[in-house]
Amino acid sequence: MQNVLSSQHPLVAHKLTLLRDKNTEPKKFRELIREISTLLAYEATNDLVLHQTSVTTPLATTDGNELSEKIGLVPILRAGLGMVEGVWNLMPSAEVWHIGLYRDEKSLKPVEYYNKLPVDPTVSVCLILDPMLATGGSAVATVDILKRWGVRKIKFVGILASPQGIENLQNHHPDVPIHLAGIDQALNQNGYILPGLGDAGDRQFGTA
Ligand code: URA
Repeated sequence: MQNVLSSQHPLVAHKLTLLRDKNTEPKKFRELIREISTLLAYEATNDLVLHQTSVTTPLATTDGNELSEKIGLVPILRAGLGMVEGVWNLMPSAEVWHIGLYRDEKSLKPVEYYNKLPVDPTVSVCLILDPMLATGGSAVATVDILKRWGVRKIKFVGILASPQGIENLQNHHPDVPIHLAGIDQALNQNGYILPGLGDAGDRQFGTA
C-alpha cells in the first residue's frame, strides 16, 4: 500500500500487544498510547525540513541544524488526546489544535462539534493524531478541515487501522501519508476494528 507505513519496530510491536490486552488497565493503557505515539512520531517526522545554523560548544563553533517548519499537532477528540503528550515531548514548540468529531451512531458519519482554528493557518505541517482509523470518516473530515485552513503538508498518525479506513483516507487524500503501529483485518457492524483493542477513548479515560 502506497503511503501507508506500518511500523516494523520491535518496541512498537511489543507495546501494541500490551495495548490490545483486555486486562491492561487505563493507567497502563495511557502510558502505552503515549509511548507508541512517540515512536510513531519519530518515524513520521523523518522528512521535516531543516535549515543550517551554527552552534557554539564549550570548545568551538560548528555547523548545526534547526527545524524550518512550524508544526501543528491535531488530536481528534477525544481518543487522540492521549497521543499528544508523547509527540509533543519530541517537538515542544509545536502548536496543538483540537478537532472535535463524533460518529453518528446510525450513519457512522463524522459530525463536527469543536473547531477553534483561526482564520489563517499558523503552521505549515500538521500531524493528525487519532489512535483508531476505523471507517476513516473522521480522518477524511479532519484533512478536509486542515486543507481548507490552508495547510498543505499533512500526515495521519494512528495506532491501528482497518483496511476500509485506509482505503477511505487514501481515496479522498492520496497525498496524506498514514503512519500506524498495525493494520487489522476488519471492521465489525458497529464500526469497531477487529481484533483491535476496543474503544480507545473508553480505555484511556476509564469510561468503558
Ligand atoms: N474507535 C475505537 O475506539 N475503536 C475502534 O475499534 C474503532 C473506532
